[in-house]
Amino acid sequence: MNASKYNATVVQKILIRPNLMILRVATDEPRSQFAAGQYTTLGLYGYEPRSENSEPEAIPSKPDKLIQRAYSIASARHETQQFEFYISQVKTGQLTPRLFHLEVGDRLFMGRRIVGVFNLSDAPKDKDVVMIATGTGITPYISFLRSHIMERPNSKMVVVQAAAHQGDLGYFSELAFLNNAFPNFYYLPTLTDADDFWPGYRMWIEEMLEAGVLGKEAGVECHPEKTHVYLCGNPTMVENVSTWLVEHGYQKKTRKTEGTLFVEEF
Ligand SMILES: Cc1cc2nc3c(=O)[nH]c(=O)nc-3n(C[C@H](O)[C@H](O)[C@H](O)COP(=O)(O)OP(=O)(O)OC[C@H]3O[C@@H](n4cnc5c(N)ncnc54)[C@H](O)[C@@H]3O)c2cc1C
Repeated sequence: MNASKYNATVVQKILIRPNLMILRVATDEPRSQFAAGQYTTLGLYGYEPRSENSEPEAIPSKPDKLIQRAYSIASARHETQQFEFYISQVKTGQLTPRLFHLEVGDRLFMGRRIVGVFNLSDAPKDKDVVMIATGTGITPYISFLRSHIMERPNSKMVVVQAAAHQGDLGYFSELAFLNNAFPNFYYLPTLTDADDFWPGYRMWIEEMLEAGVLGKEAGVECHPEKTHVYLCGNPTMVENVSTWLVEHGYQKKTRKTEGTLFVEEF
């Protein structure tokens, strides 16, 4: 079958949960240096097999069509020939069940362009930064931290990560390590359906903000002139937390308007 558009190879696959994986991809040609937080596309043809724990496609794909979707890059910005992705399987989706069927050595397509405006360049190095994520929305922040944490000693950097269970907190170990290693970095995971062993927060993100957890844990104030806030992940979380922040004086940054609230929806 036609595989002429494939230009990359799987070099590592880590299944974190049956529907959650880290996929590392080596491209045949290096890409240009990118900004931490940007995304590219991954693609596979419709004739590729689907994972065993997927379900029939909601919308059947055509066998000879290259199915492409956007994925944020977790790697540091200087890694231009191996790229790390953090992917959640949509069981009835077109592309993700095929990505989950891949093994080390398999070929796929990765876009030549790396794009997006969700990055740290608008947050001055002396301003605090709060990065809020659900699910795979943590991915751009991993790239932010791997690329820039050393350059921002005068900026407090806080990650608030929400999930149902502890096993859904991707990059937990890396973030917990950074929390211990960098005095200006604070990791605040919260679970909505935790078991008895979980020692951390059990609140919704809006409840954490309302209760002043950022101030208590990190000395960070939710004030639009002092703290830049990034939101990434589930559209419902993004909408609810955006509403809370706008009610507290934040304005969303867009191509046309200035603001200190940055939003990326998956
Ligand atoms: C800028 C950007 C960055 C992204 N980065 C990532 C990333 O880092 N990791 C990642 O896993 N995804 C990411 N996505 C989402 C990704 O592009 C795909 O939409 C997702 O992987 C589903 O693709 P699919 O072909 O399997 O499903 P599709 O065939 O496109 O969708 C099937 C159905 O599932 C629904 N659906 C689509 N996405 C989701 C979802 N995430 N959860 C539940 N239901 C869904 C759709 O509404 C549709 O009805 C990103 C999206 C954007 C726009």
